[in-house]
Amino acid sequence: MRIGFLEKPKRQPLSVLLLLMFCLYLGLALITMFIFETITVWPSTGVALAAFLLCGKRIWPAIFAASLAVLLIYFFSLGQPFSMTQSLLIMLATASGNTLSAMLALYFCGRVSSLQQSFGDLLWVLKRFLPATAICGAVASVFGIGVYWLLGLSWVEHYVTGIANWSVSNMVGALIGTPLLISCFLQPGWRRMLDKVRWKYQAVFCLLLLAFFLFGPGQIWLPPGFQQPALLLMPLLFVALTANQSFIFIFQGLTFLLVWVGTTMGYGPFITGHAAETATAMQLFCGFLAAVVLIIQALLCEQRKLRKLWTSDLLSSNRKLEQRVQERTRQLSEANRQLAQLSVTDGLTQLANRRRFDEYLQAEWQRASRLQQPLGLMMLDVDWFKNYNDCYGHLQGDEALRQVGQLLRLGARRTTDLAARYGGEEFALVVPLADANYLKQQADLLRLAFASLNIAHQTSPLGRLTVSIGIAVLVPQAHETSMVLIEKADQALYLAKNNGRNQVVIAQSTPLQ
Ligand code: GH3
Ligand code: MG
Ligand code: MG
Repeated sequence: MRIGFLEKPKRQPLSVLLLLMFCLYLGLALITMFIFETITVWPSTGVALAAFLLCGKRIWPAIFAASLAVLLIYFFSLGQPFSMTQSLLIMLATASGNTLSAMLALYFCGRVSSLQQSFGDLLWVLKRFLPATAICGAVASVFGIGVYWLLGLSWVEHYVTGIANWSVSNMVGALIGTPLLISCFLQPGWRRMLDKVRWKYQAVFCLLLLAFFLFGPGQIWLPPGFQQPALLLMPLLFVALTANQSFIFIFQGLTFLLVWVGTTMGYGPFITGHAAETATAMQLFCGFLAAVVLIIQALLCEQRKLRKLWTSDLLSSNRKLEQRVQERTRQLSEANRQLAQLSVTDGLTQLANRRRFDEYLQAEWQRASRLQQPLGLMMLDVDWFKNYNDCYGHLQGDEALRQVGQLLRLGARRTTDLAARYGGEEFALVVPLADANYLKQQADLLRLAFASLNIAHQTSPLGRLTVSIGIAVLVPQAHETSMVLIEKADQALYLAKNNGRNQVVIAQSTPLQ
């Protein structure tokens, strides 16, 4: 169930709000006057206060006009006991009183746009709302009865008693009506509320039962000792402690309605035979209940707010902790990655190290064996390198090795080729799916490129730093291991050395395509 025009009061045009508040005020007043025939409680004050707190000052014409209309109808129903001028003055004064008193409450409480920050705030309830209802009642009654006194007209009771009764009647109306109406406007989740309402039926049933025995025809069966109106506190407190604010205020309104109707019909413990005393007792009872419920629900609201604050604090520190753990995990996995990289890299040349070479050659050998594809290996050795070290020192020797490494890296053209430092001044290039001719060309290019660097080598018969290269290409056979390929390439390298160095030799069994 959705109450469409109640859904978002801020977005309603002023005319709709004015009409709505006018009808609510007038409707409740007419029901009070002509159905219950009593004004010991005046629920329209609840409308006036709610209207001002929700809509601000601009709502005054609705409340003023509705007040005027109520009095007009009232005087007509009485058959106009006063003169035209007197009636007009009474109407104007009372309507002004009702409007100004509610406006005063607005100055006292401020505009209300959330239940949490109004009825959910204990200090607001205690310091603002409760005093505002009292002030509102008092001001309206002073205007309403003061005009009778000024005009020299008599009031049904002493003026002061009249003011007191009128004040309390307005105050109780505001205490019960205002939270109910405001919650209807600000928390219109009716459908959600009704979904959860099953257990609430029990509270309503309990209330109806109690009202029947305490304020209804059932009272004749109830022993006098049990006729305690305070029993109504049981369902009311249960609801105040367990339900949401909307339901609390609706339930409170229902409780009050039952007490009021019952008392008006002559049932209940407040009936004394003296109408004024009855009214006062009922007013005090209802006002007291409303104040207690308001305080309890505000306390619970505050508690819920605190809990929410703690939870959000906890969540945010958890989130921070999670972020920190994530960051540390990321750093750790980055460090692990670097470590893994280091463990397979040669520090001097940044090529793959011997460990990586062995793993890779083994894996490629198995693949080539499975698919019966050729696997090529190039072994490269720097010529007369011991002499070079001896002549130029190890640091310069290292630099030369780095240069070999750079060239070999360029020689590994395909992503599946692996250039590695085999050990000392020996290097290797693993070439899966190798073509011996292609490998020979690559090796020659490498040899020439290195020679063309023209790195002086006085103690070499060749006058500069050169490399010798041995090549082997094999299709692995079932009984062979990768050692066969290394041996073949090594033999070719040995031949290249023996033949005078600075040359490329292909192992004999390597088929040229
Ligand atoms: P060949 O032409 O027959 O290969 O003669 P060679 O002198 O190059 O061969 P040998 O195996 O006798 O010498 C290899 C030298 O490589 C010995 C060693 O000092 C040097 N060497 C090995 N590792 C490194 C290194 O990391 N840095 C430097 N600067 N020299 C190294
Ligand atoms: Mg060597
Ligand atoms: Mg050498």
